[in-house]
Formats: sequence, structure tokens, C-alpha cells
Amino acid sequence: MIPIAKPFLSKEEAQAAYDTILTGWITQGPKVMEFEEKFAAFTGAKYAVAVSNCTTALHLSLIVAGIGTGDEVICPSMSYIATANAIKYVGATPVFAEVNPRDYNLDVVDVEKKITGKTKAVLLVHQMGMPADIDAFKELCAQYDLKLIEDAACAAGSAYKGEKIGSHSELVCFSFHPRKVITTGDGGMITTNRKDYYDRLKLLRQHGMSVNDRVRHTSEKVIFEDHVEVGYNYRLTDIQAAVGIKQLEKLDWIVQERRKVAAAYNSAFRDLEFIRLPLEKEEDFSNYQSYSVYLKDSSPVDRNTLMQKLLDMGIATRRGIMNSHRETAYKESIEGLDLPISEDLQDRSILLPVYVPMIDSEISFVIEGFRKLTETIVHT
Ligand SMILES: *Cc1c(COP(=O)(O)O)cnc(C)c1O
Repeated sequence: MIPIAKPFLSKEEAQAAYDTILTGWITQGPKVMEFEEKFAAFTGAKYAVAVSNCTTALHLSLIVAGIGTGDEVICPSMSYIATANAIKYVGATPVFAEVNPRDYNLDVVDVEKKITGKTKAVLLVHQMGMPADIDAFKELCAQYDLKLIEDAACAAGSAYKGEKIGSHSELVCFSFHPRKVITTGDGGMITTNRKDYYDRLKLLRQHGMSVNDRVRHTSEKVIFEDHVEVGYNYRLTDIQAAVGIKQLEKLDWIVQERRKVAAAYNSAFRDLEFIRLPLEKEEDFSNYQSYSVYLKDSSPVDRNTLMQKLLDMGIATRRGIMNSHRETAYKESIEGLDLPISEDLQDRSILLPVYVPMIDSEISFVIEGFRKLTETIVHT
């Protein structure tokens, strides 16, 4: 059985968790601080703040960016639903814009059309690890005085114009869920270059507390904390951070390995006219968190049949990225909404297995299965 994904974890991560448990420092402490420093250095951002997952990273980023009740935030509907949900958490309204069919990322022209007097921010997703055109959105946001927040849940280790994702804008949010490229079980990180954001993010993730546990424990003087505003408990544990440090050391290598799988798919499917493959532009460097194949009208087999037949052969796939506006939770937002490209990408795309290590025979099995199923159907 070929799974759609699996985390790359080894004895080193297990040992790091074990060692951390025995230190007696279990939640947000020295390991979290070390993970943050190393993650910031990896991305080239000045600061990094670890949190419990990417959804909470997005929530806190929206708060520090000053987004609140009555505001509108433009984001793709075609994203994991957490993107839109985080906007709801601060009382704002997600305004869904269209994505472009080549890289599945927000279409800057449609985003500009959706700007109103209430728009305060754009939440830019790097879908499936493929970098969106950050500079185009920075320019747009500067022109209309909007905040730019990046949902880089899938994009750890990806780069745009030669710089790692995480270094380009004021607030960039990452996920370490097992379905992403590196994992801490659950976990998240926010990178920022702004000291004021950094300080407030640290307060907000720990109940608004002015003195963190690490500082209090190591202080020679008795100190009392103040809770300076209403915060949250969005901490990452030291056990998770210890695992994250080991994962981060392997991230560049993991990305290289994933890119080899993507390259094998690209060359094996290049001649098939009835599909469209992921487009990595010259300025992009994708971690291929997912590899998505789009089936055109001319496809000899419909998407769901292909998924079932591949599963029958022992190859797990997934459908294209969900559209939040099609979910029951967002049924009130569909009035007047027209997102044909997003819906079509969800309906006609199939995600193929990518994981590390994926050995040559597994890659060939997927390639041959895909080709055989589509070709057999052509000839019958
Ligand atoms: C996975 C994902 C999230 C949520 O990440 P969690 O760490 O599970 O909260 C948010 N946005 C996008 C685009 C994602 O793919």
C-alpha cells in the first residue's frame, strides 16, 4: 500500500523527546526557545514565535495586525478551512477571492477587485508549498494600505526569489501537523521582523502573562507576573520543540528528496496531453508538500474513477484542495459568490503520494499505475 503521505521521523526525534521528558521541563521552556532561534535563522527572519498549531498562529497574527470586528480579510476559499476560520475568530469576515489555475494561489487581479472600504488585510496562502507571488501582493497591500499575512502552513523549506518563505513579510505562519513537510505532532510557528509584533505574540500565546516561566525559574529574585491583556493558551511543549529541532535539521534534505519525487512525476507525465502538472516558475522553489495533477476535459477517465482504481491497486490519493465556501459552516457566504476556477480545481485535481523516503520502486509503481489506468481506458 502506497500512502498519500507519511511523516519522516526516526530514533533521533524519539530520543530527543525522551531526553526532554527526563529533564523535567515539559512545556514551553528552553527547547521552545532553541527551536524558535533555529527556525528564525533557517528562514532568515529576525524572530520566530512557536505556538500550538498554524491555526492559532493565524489567529494571533490577525490580532497583532489589528484585525477585528467588522473588518474584511481577503483570502482564498480554496484552502484548508483553518485559513477562513482564523479570520472568523477575530470577528472579521473572510472575503473569498479566486485562485489562478496554474499554481493554485490567489489571483492578484481578483483580489484587487474584492477590496472594499472595510478590507484590512490579505491572507496569502502558499498552497501545497508552492510560493505565491509575494512581491505582487506586497505592492497591492502597500497601495491600498492593507496588512499582508502569509499562511505558509504548507511552505516550510520553500523559497521565493531565492529567499526562504518566512523572511518576506511581517507575519508568516507555519504548521507542523504530520501532513506537512516537518512535524512536531501538532505545532506552529510565526516568523516576523517586527520587535513589537514579536513581543505581543509572546504575551498572547501565554495568557497575556508579562513574565514567562523560563524567566521566572531562572531568576535569582522573587518576581511576580502581571497579565497585561486577555491572552490565550497557545503554547508548544518542550517535548514537541525537541522533536521540531531534529526535524528542522533535516528540512533542507527532506525538501530535496520531495523534489526528486516531483521531478520523477514531471518527467513521467510530461507527454500526457489530458493533464496539467504543477507549475514552478523561475522565482519559485517548492517543497512539494503536495503534488497535484489536474485532469482536463479531454481526460479519458474522470477524477473519482481514477482515484478509486488507483486505490484498488494500492495507491492512496486525495482530491484537490477543498473550497471553504462549499462547507456547511460557510453556507451564509455563498450568496453572489462566483469561484469557478477554485471549484474546478477541487473537482478535477488529484493529489499523488509524496513522502520521504519514497523509494524508486514506489515512485515507479505510482507512475505506472497512473499511466496504465489512463491509457487502458483510452484504448477500451
Ligand atoms: C494545514 C493548514 C492549516 C492548519 O494548520 P494546523 O497546524 O493544522 O492548524 C492552515 N492553512 C493551511 C493552508 C493548511 O494547509
